[in-house]
Amino acid sequence: MKHPVVIVGAGLSGLHAASKFTDKGIPCRVLEARDRIGGRALSATDPNRPDWGNFDLGATWFWPQYENTIVKTVEALHVETFVQYTEGAMLAEQSHQEAPKRFVLPDNPNALSMRFKGGVQSLIDAIADRIPQRVIERNTQVKAIQIDKEDSIVIETELTDEKREKIFASAVILALPPRIIANHIEFSPSLSSSLHNALLDKATWMAGQAKAVAIYDRPFWRESGLSGFVSSRVGPLQEIHDASPEHGCGALFGFIGIPAKIRKELGENEIKEMIIDQLSRLFGDDAQNPETILYKDWSNDIETAVEDDWEPLRNFPIYGPEKIIGQWQDKLFFAGTESDSQFGGHLEGALRSAETAVDEIINLKN
Ligand SMILES: Cc1cc2nc3c(=O)[nH]c(=O)nc-3n(C[C@H](O)[C@H](O)[C@H](O)COP(=O)(O)OP(=O)(O)OC[C@H]3O[C@@H](n4cnc5c(N)ncnc54)[C@H](O)[C@@H]3O)c2cc1C
Repeated sequence: MKHPVVIVGAGLSGLHAASKFTDKGIPCRVLEARDRIGGRALSATDPNRPDWGNFDLGATWFWPQYENTIVKTVEALHVETFVQYTEGAMLAEQSHQEAPKRFVLPDNPNALSMRFKGGVQSLIDAIADRIPQRVIERNTQVKAIQIDKEDSIVIETELTDEKREKIFASAVILALPPRIIANHIEFSPSLSSSLHNALLDKATWMAGQAKAVAIYDRPFWRESGLSGFVSSRVGPLQEIHDASPEHGCGALFGFIGIPAKIRKELGENEIKEMIIDQLSRLFGDDAQNPETILYKDWSNDIETAVEDDWEPLRNFPIYGPEKIIGQWQDKLFFAGTESDSQFGGHLEGALRSAETAVDEIINLKN
């Protein structure tokens, strides 16, 4: 190959694709708009207590009974995992007027959710460690992709200092949300209108969501027989889970049930106060003073969400690969979780779509 394969996006999918090419000795470059890798896999620490470890603000779980590719990857990379804490009763909050009700759920070994020790960042870092450092270029936003007169692929990037750079590629893997591709990258020649519209139609999984993690010195709710799992119609958190590390401090995470537009009006501080009220209502006075609340509103993140993602999803979107015909055929390949028809939306889908794109390119070059 005259030029490397260029992978756009250093989320789980792009990184996995790069590690597969590296294993096979095929030159590649990964271009990443953010100053960090991982995309929707994001772990953060409590700034006051970094010793308490990482907490997930994006993806948290995988499901080993169904998801073979992530199991294989985790085992190959020796990433340590543990079972989501679910012992004890759950709480259901129906209305402001009624006290939360306590239920004990039956054990369901088929619903086993696994977490990563050190957060999902451990998986991202383990994959990135397999790729030579120079391959991943951060702060490099892809703005345009062209086919020039010599039929070469030319990628135009913008760096943080607004400097533009041109990069030649033998093939391009787009490992980023379809709506981000359609809204932020200019193609010359243009993508067919049916392909462009299909990309716009594919809602980015979880892009309209916000997640909060309240961190405490210990998982005190377990002392009163509670699992930390809550389903709430009152909010602001509509679904809460134990997010404590395997040992040590305690944490509860929740998805915020307030639509993105209203969240923007309320602002982060007001929402955090509402969260503390809710956690105190559910778990008592111990919940009143978290060490910190980590908060991430993905709808504000321009590398993940576009305005169309602000509307709450009514149904699970239909995900899967897009067919490319015409001049872009055999030049452009889609990865990213939304490109996988079976596990689209999940970490598993990000890994599977990367493997599909890598195989397609290898088969083409042979
Ligand atoms: C709150 C939340 C909770 C979730 N929970 C789970 C869970 O528990 N289990 C699960 O399996 N999945 C979960 N998911 C989904 C999971 O995070 C995703 O499926 C997965 O991380 C997607 O990986 P990806 O590589 O396909 O895309 P992304 O992670 O979105 O990566 C795309 C990358 O492309 C980069 N990029 C964007 N534009 C450009 C550009 N123009 N130029 C260069 N780079 C660009 C981005 O910065 C990003 O790094 C959750 C997601 C969220 C947000």
